[in-house]
Amino acid sequence: MTQITCSRCRENKDLMPEPPFPGDLAQIVQRHVCAECWRGWLQAQVNLINENHYVMTDPDHRAQLNKQMRVFLSLPD
Ligand SMILES: [Zn+2]
Repeated sequence: MTQITCSRCRENKDLMPEPPFPGDLAQIVQRHVCAECWRGWLQAQVNLINENHYVMTDPDHRAQLNKQMRVFLSLPD
């Protein structure tokens, strides 16, 4: 199985078998983030959505959340 060095935990982990959501950003996530850290983000995301009252159908809110995801996961630019 292909290994990656996760950008968040810095450990060598297995590549996630599928991009975790549709779109280009998910392919970056798949190549840089392990499944455990991805699950960590999914939990953090719930809190952020609640705290900031994000509406996921609002493109501005989605963009905000994507920005926070990049920081949380230490994704490269
Ligand atoms: Zn990780």
